Amino acid sequence: MRPNGPATDTEAATQARRRRTFAVISHPDAGKSTLTEALALHAQAITEAGHINGKAGRRHTVSDWMSMEQARGISISSASLQLTYRDTVLNLVDTPGHADFSEDTYRVLAAVDAAIMLVDAAKGLEAQTMKLFAVCKHRGIPIITVINKWDRPGRDPLELMDEITERTGLTPTPLTWPVGIAGDFRGVIDRSEGSYDAFTATAGGAQIAPEEHMDAEQAAAREGEAWITAQEESELLEASGAQHEQETFLAGVSTPVLFAAAVKNFGVRRLLDTLVELAPPATPRPDHAGNPRPVEAPFSAMVFKLQTGMNTAHRDRVAFVRVCSGVFERGMVVTTARTGRPFATKYAQQAFGQGRDGVDTAYPGDVVGLVNAAALSIGDTIYTGEPVEFPPLPTFAPEHFAVARAVDIGRYKQFRKGITQLEAEGVVQVLRSNLRGDQAPVLAAVGPMQFEVAEHRMADEFSSPVRLETLGYTLARRTDAESAQVLANERGVEVLHRTDGELLALFADQWRMRAVQRNHPDLTLEALIAA
Ligand code: GDP
Repeated sequence: MRPNGPATDTEAATQARRRRTFAVISHPDAGKSTLTEALALHAQAITEAGHINGKAGRRHTVSDWMSMEQARGISISSASLQLTYRDTVLNLVDTPGHADFSEDTYRVLAAVDAAIMLVDAAKGLEAQTMKLFAVCKHRGIPIITVINKWDRPGRDPLELMDEITERTGLTPTPLTWPVGIAGDFRGVIDRSEGSYDAFTATAGGAQIAPEEHMDAEQAAAREGEAWITAQEESELLEASGAQHEQETFLAGVSTPVLFAAAVKNFGVRRLLDTLVELAPPATPRPDHAGNPRPVEAPFSAMVFKLQTGMNTAHRDRVAFVRVCSGVFERGMVVTTARTGRPFATKYAQQAFGQGRDGVDTAYPGDVVGLVNAAALSIGDTIYTGEPVEFPPLPTFAPEHFAVARAVDIGRYKQFRKGITQLEAEGVVQVLRSNLRGDQAPVLAAVGPMQFEVAEHRMADEFSSPVRLETLGYTLARRTDAESAQVLANERGVEVLHRTDGELLALFADQWRMRAVQRNHPDLTLEALIAA
């Protein structure tokens, strides 16, 4: 506690206005870690939670919770990085990708107020970006699009805008427009001012790239044909109404677009400015009943990620929460809405890993890691004062399925306990059917790494090693009892119950599903979120 007593409510409101909490949604290799490093170079890093990217030869991961993690050189954590820029606090919440893509990646999006959709200029919108976009769209999260790697040969910029419109349904409203084709990135037009920012490369992009600001006349003299082309393209956009509108951006209908080359630090400052000027601050979150909890209300937060066994010496569980209202102070005792039980936030940390820097205070929009959080589950609300409960986190469309069996049948009790616990924590989804029986539940996951975590914890923590047998399904659809009866007679499809009451029909692939639909056009087969 601070010497002058608890922080005041108005402090929470003031601090909430200064916050921008966001994630980067992208496909592996689009440049997320490069961009993160570039943002950190331009802004001032306050705390570096966990890691930025665990790729070999790059920045080290700070967390070391599982031997498996070390062996693979990846980090299973989804931590956050806090930066300050122009007196604004930016919370960049990491979306694990690559091999560690999992349901957690989707759940991170419940903790943010905005997303940066990072697109490789040569590749356009890729699979993982589209999956993450679907979750953002479902949640109504405003999206800033960044076309990256403009320093390398890539697509035509207008063609990229068309692709965004066609595949996401968002109206792209470029704030800047590149001068020079992809591979010859000279600078950008500021479309609202008609002025020009010329870029100059620095060696290796290790320093902030100098920018020269000039008017159209100077730009034309300097860049000649490239400037004229860019201006013409920008005017074409204007004619088609591609101008930024704050309301449609916040409503998830339009997306401001910026052009960048993260590796050279080109366009990065403008991205920071855009986050400060356009991205929403931490705003009141609707509770279970749809009533927004004011940011200045007493402390409340939502658990969006759990991590167990980070420290093998004392097996602790860290719950990552997003502060929704009020002021968090280390040591405060909060109530868990689901159980009504008190929870002492004795060992709060904003970051985690070897440093274990404790935090003293956090405000709406901030991410805090709470240790010794064995009593907390995914989606839990914790609060002080006026009770509140935020809506539960949804489960997302699984794409990987495996039957789990206890290696030692004599340990069935431990097996059942472990599976139930892992399900409650959201480590994996669990599907059951009469046909398969209780001894052989089907584990379902967004990413295969969730299975590795489940396997590891079943052996290590619940003393019931499991054998996993992968099933050949990749697609799940929500169905109903009536359709399930029809599906039972079809080949290549299986219907199982999920604990939340949903009936899921599993198919090998799209083609198999379509073949079944052709025979039975009236079947109920609904896409799940992010399917
Ligand atoms: P991530 O998988 O999305 O985190 O991507 P990385 O940040 O690791 O980048 C993947 C590769 O693309 C690396 O070799 C980067 O150096 C490279 N890269 C990232 N941004 C740019 C860029 O703006 N221009 C160029 N030419 N390469 C880039």
